[in-house]
Amino acid sequence: MERIPEKHAFRGKAACIAVGSELLGDAKLDLNSLEITQTLETYGFNVVEKRVVGDSVERIAASIRELMNGCEVVIVTGGLGPTADDVTREGVALALARELFFDPEVEVWLQERYQRVGRTMPEIGRSMAMVVEDSEIIRNTAGSAPGILVEEDGRLLAVFPGVPWEMRSMVESHLKARLEQRYDGSIRRSRTLLMGGVVESEVEGRIRHLYDRFGRDNVTILASFGVLRLVLTATGAEAQVEQDLDRMEEAFREILGDDVAGIDIPGLAHVVIPALVDSDKTLATAESCTGGLVGAALTNVSGSSDAYMGGVVSYSNQAKEEMVGVPHEILVEHGAVSEPVVRAMAEEIRKRFGTDWGLGVTGIAGPSGGTDEKPVGLVHWAVAGPDGVVARHRVFPGDREIVRQWSVNVVLDLLRRQLLVGAK
Ligand code: ATP
Ligand code: MG
Repeated sequence: MERIPEKHAFRGKAACIAVGSELLGDAKLDLNSLEITQTLETYGFNVVEKRVVGDSVERIAASIRELMNGCEVVIVTGGLGPTADDVTREGVALALARELFFDPEVEVWLQERYQRVGRTMPEIGRSMAMVVEDSEIIRNTAGSAPGILVEEDGRLLAVFPGVPWEMRSMVESHLKARLEQRYDGSIRRSRTLLMGGVVESEVEGRIRHLYDRFGRDNVTILASFGVLRLVLTATGAEAQVEQDLDRMEEAFREILGDDVAGIDIPGLAHVVIPALVDSDKTLATAESCTGGLVGAALTNVSGSSDAYMGGVVSYSNQAKEEMVGVPHEILVEHGAVSEPVVRAMAEEIRKRFGTDWGLGVTGIAGPSGGTDEKPVGLVHWAVAGPDGVVARHRVFPGDREIVRQWSVNVVLDLLRRQLLVGAK
């Protein structure tokens, strides 16, 4: 590979800054950068850093300076409004060591805008008519605060309002054209392999040798409670990127085999439902600790009614007996969280609904209810099908929410694997 000279190292790199002290609190998340990232990646830019910065001129200026140093494109959102906490304009001016001056033309735009919504511009609105020396001002057609574009030393700095639709409209009207100009025909695209029933460290060990081949930066593992996402990324010309992703996918699939549930899908239910529909088979569920989350995941997939007949949330022992048909003696002898009970749940629900497949899950999600013998996090799950019942159990780490999430994923994955066996 050709080495990029140090002084051009910023080329192709991009960063986002979300300005707003409210984004530092516990109530509001920066979402603007997600949309901006999508646009940047479409034009082949590699987003290397994102920051959330409070309403401070110095901090905003420092962040802009630092990120412009290493990046070709820096996008800032927020803090362009008229109130005292909107200090992004000052931050930009300080970062670039440029003057801020009053622009009467911008004031006219602002007055027109206020008039159109039936108001007169308040005195503080005039602050939005302050513009950064030698910058391009973007008229705001969806709100009031103008945006700012600056080109310097081969870099592009774009500053948009924080209001999502105002930001969006400037991305469309101004940012895309600027990115297009810098676009060398390369794009960055990802493909996500969804895996169930695997452990992150173990997968990492199996695929590590492929990192060198495809580049460490082009492979990311994201683990989330019973599913693992392997994100493969390729950069280059459109046609080349698809080919590269095909080659990467093939190499990873060769190693991971049936652990890969699907490509670019949101969850395991999105594999299970089509697999059932394609084989013309039906499913029913008996859930305890998941309280209906398995049913919710399944019915989240459009077309699920062709395969998923329904289920019972059998939380109490009485419900397990009466609604599902778990024999009283088994419950008394082994307790609700046990292999015999979960086997019976899967088998009996299958019989009651007259389906091809039945699925059961029971566990101790915590935080209370654990014992030495049956600790918090212990979950039993089972799948009943034409060839009998398969049951598994494990003690999952994490809080109630997380144990429940694990439970949903492991039971769906067990079903997925049983369906694969059946299909072979
Ligand atoms: P305005 O001209 O409307 O005052 P502004 O540039 O001052 O725009 P802010 O005051 O920072 O924007 O934010 C306006 C609204 O947009 C707020 O509701 C804020 O929570 C939301 N917002 C700001 N930044 C973001 C962000 N990064 N992600 C999601 N929402 C955001
Ligand atoms: Mg504001």
